[in-house]
Amino acid sequence: MIPFNVPPRTGREEEYVAQAINSGKICGNGRFTKECTEWLESKTGCRRVLMTTSCTHALEMAAILADIKPGDEVIMPSYTFVSTANAFVMRGAVPVFVDIRPDTMNIDEQLIEDAVTPKTKAIVPVHYAGVGCEMDVILDIARRHDLIVAEDDAQGLMASYKGKPLGTFGAVGCVSFHETKNYSMGEGGALLINDESLIERAEIVWEKGTNRSRFLRGQIDKYTWVDCGSSYLPSELCAAYLIPQLEDADKINEARLACWRMYYDILTPLSEKGFIELPFVPKHCTHNAHMFYIKTKDIEERTALIAHLKEHDVMSVFHYVPLHSAEVGRRVGRFNGEDRYTTHESERLLRLPMYYGLKTEHIDEVCRIIADFYSR
Ligand SMILES: *Cc1c(COP(=O)(O)O)cnc(C)c1O
Repeated sequence: MIPFNVPPRTGREEEYVAQAINSGKICGNGRFTKECTEWLESKTGCRRVLMTTSCTHALEMAAILADIKPGDEVIMPSYTFVSTANAFVMRGAVPVFVDIRPDTMNIDEQLIEDAVTPKTKAIVPVHYAGVGCEMDVILDIARRHDLIVAEDDAQGLMASYKGKPLGTFGAVGCVSFHETKNYSMGEGGALLINDESLIERAEIVWEKGTNRSRFLRGQIDKYTWVDCGSSYLPSELCAAYLIPQLEDADKINEARLACWRMYYDILTPLSEKGFIELPFVPKHCTHNAHMFYIKTKDIEERTALIAHLKEHDVMSVFHYVPLHSAEVGRRVGRFNGEDRYTTHESERLLRLPMYYGLKTEHIDEVCRIIADFYSR
């Protein structure tokens, strides 16, 4: 069987987790959390990193920091994971969905401005598959309309747009370390803070609404409840699991990119014959091989191909059901403009096995099974 995903692992995780256990400190914000934080700060160049229990929670922190109030509108793609919208809906916001570009599956930057109203508060671009959204255009719109940009960078660690790391363009960027992502601590994430003025409040929100971070730095002599907040700190056990992967980040990234290029090269003849479409990466984007997907003719062909792959013990998956068509999306959100590509493209997309440690003979086999499907 060729699984769709295998959680990343370097082989040193047990050693690090054992160190965390034996250190006598397993709650958050210890040595391993600090090491993750420092790695992310130096790798991305953002002003401050706060490790979190998930990307979902980093997005919730972003919504609090953006001061989202009931009735505020937040612009985002409909083609994304539920957390992108949920984090803002939980603060009473109306998600305003904008169509995607069919080439990158990212929000169509040319359609964003039309969705701006006096109630618009934020834009949440999602860097799908670790391919950057058109941040120059998005930041320009945000500047002119005084909007906050919070990047859903769940899939984008180690990827960049015009040479600058994803997650460092908006006021904040939200990273995921879920087991399906390139680097993982099981469940986990990080808030990358780029707007310096948000740092102090972010630390408070992160520490259950208290000024404990200032207390730990010796800036005040007791800490109290000063704002709303929650428990967003991951345990040291999780941070210890992540650290060896961050140490090996370049190696993991290279291995994933090699798999991606191999899929791309082997499947190119099928795409040239017009059977499938391959992913597109704009020249100014450096991606991180978060996923390899193909596009079939339509949903029926995709269903048949998934079954064909499964018959040959290859697991492939599709996503997302567009949020505007889901029960909650219909109730609390709205789609601005026409759904030209979101639904249509989402029904054609199929993700192939992609993980650190995927063997070249397995990629060969997956591609052979796909070619066999189209030769019939
Ligand atoms: C994985 C993912 C999330 C959620 O990440 P968690 O760490 O599981 O909360 C959010 N947005 C996108 C685009 C994702 O791919």
